[in-house]
Amino acid sequence: MTAAIKLPPFSLLAKQPKIPHVAHTVAQNDVANEHGTPITFIVSRSRNGRSWWIRAAREGMRMSNTLHTTVEAKGQAWIAAVKAGTVSVARETSLSCDMTVSCKAPVTHIDNKGYVYCTSHGKHRALSVPCRAMRPGEVTKIILGETIKY
Ligand SMILES: [Zn+2]
Repeated sequence: MTAAIKLPPFSLLAKQPKIPHVAHTVAQNDVANEHGTPITFIVSRSRNGRSWWIRAAREGMRMSNTLHTTVEAKGQAWIAAVKAGTVSVARETSLSCDMTVSCKAPVTHIDNKGYVYCTSHGKHRALSVPCRAMRPGEVTKIILGETIKY
């Protein structure tokens, strides 16, 4: 049984590790996503065999952030998952203001229960419960499916 691997969706804001030109492809496989579109997953290994990178692309377009590891077990798990086709790109969470379904303003605030709000709804929320403005990197983290502390 090969462990399933989920790659974070590509973000222009995320710093991508550079894959050296001398690294070679050690596993490559086209795996259909939930819409049936084939996504190409590639694992590269450095020439000295001590670094691995994994990424996903579709017709030359980057679909995932590039992940890097120097842990051999992790590199081997990536290779196995790509070969077995048990690899996917996590869907980007679309962030929207939790105050009302109809609010389409960009999310900027978070309350102490983890609900997120636009600026005006966030300021309104702060009158009754702890609610603060998020730092720029925090919005990105939430979009990538990571959690942040209040
Ligand atoms: Zn709002």
